Amino acid sequence: MYNVLVIGGGPMGITVGIEAQKHNLSCIIIEKGALVNSIYDFPVNMTFFSTSERLEIGGVPFISHGDKPTRTEALEYFRRVIQRWDLQINNYEEVHAVERRENGFEVSSSKARYRARYVIVATGFYGLPNLMGVPGEALSKVKHYYDEPHPYIGKEVAVIGAANSACDVALELFHKQAKVTMIIRGEGINERVKYWIKPNIENRIKEGSIKAYFNTQVKRIREESITVVHAAGEENLENDFVLAMTGFTPDYAFLEKAGIRIANDAFRSPHYNPETHETNVPGLFLAGVVCGGLKTNKYFIENSKDHASKILGYIKRSKGVKS
Ligand SMILES: Cc1cc2nc3c(=O)[nH]c(=O)nc-3n(C[C@H](O)[C@H](O)[C@H](O)COP(=O)(O)OP(=O)(O)OC[C@H]3O[C@@H](n4cnc5c(N)ncnc54)[C@H](O)[C@@H]3O)c2cc1C
Repeated sequence: MYNVLVIGGGPMGITVGIEAQKHNLSCIIIEKGALVNSIYDFPVNMTFFSTSERLEIGGVPFISHGDKPTRTEALEYFRRVIQRWDLQINNYEEVHAVERRENGFEVSSSKARYRARYVIVATGFYGLPNLMGVPGEALSKVKHYYDEPHPYIGKEVAVIGAANSACDVALELFHKQAKVTMIIRGEGINERVKYWIKPNIENRIKEGSIKAYFNTQVKRIREESITVVHAAGEENLENDFVLAMTGFTPDYAFLEKAGIRIANDAFRSPHYNPETHETNVPGLFLAGVVCGGLKTNKYFIENSKDHASKILGYIKRSKGVKS
């Protein structure tokens, strides 16, 4: 019987683990992938927009070589944090269900069953891509995660989307001599794209270095082409790869199965008390970006670090749990 069981070994799951240690509560973190799996899945050459100091957790200093840390530096940082705090993390183990029992919960995973008094869901949203729902989407040439430019050199690559990831990917590929075509549902680059990226991508489109189709949707994907639809009708484009940068969604089926109420609004926000992060299921808490529902830019590492102290402070204060 653990005092605290955390689902998800991302930055916020780790922060909860640290906070539990500070309160001398037994704690286990169950992670379905590698340690900080979402960051591991980020593009290989990505750089954070936050300074390293703002990403620090558990009082462990984060020193990076440049102004902003890279993915590689972040992976090394979180490895050191876990080592420093000696956290118990079970990797490559997916949690399938959380069920309420007397005095706590039973949690079943791909490998075991656990009992815990309190369960903290810190599952993020980066595991489930928003699918386009078009024929051919399951072909191996279609990727929802972009890693690095090398495989795409000299190839016809369609980048779907107009938000930050799509723009970053289109620019990096263009600089490595891929033939990039952006397929964009709306009439322009997303207004929320970082201010130093937006003019860059717009100028590359204007000068024709990157082709862009606005007000256009993908209709079908084949091995050697994609079919798009726009005001003038259907058009077939030669194509080797499709990078669908269409965003991600929290695992609502998992949240609802655990009994968490989901708001019937545009952002499908999961129900929780913002003071304590406890959901409508007593003893079941939410931490990290999952709290934002479909508003996936609401929380990030910088502004969700306090979730863990709110949760553990509340558990210790009002639930009378013994170490
Ligand atoms: C390209 C990019 C750049 C970013 N740059 C910054 C930045 O500069 N500054 C900043 O503050 N934030 C940044 N962010 C946001 C930041 O990465 C997230 O806020 C952070 O990763 C959220 O942490 P989390 O622990 O809530 O979720 P995640 O990091 O997504 O961790 C959730 C974990 O839960 C695991 N999981 C999911 N379901 C299960 C299950 N059923 N069983 C077991 N494990 C499960 C996942 O594998 C994952 O490891 C960036 C994000 C992106 C995409």
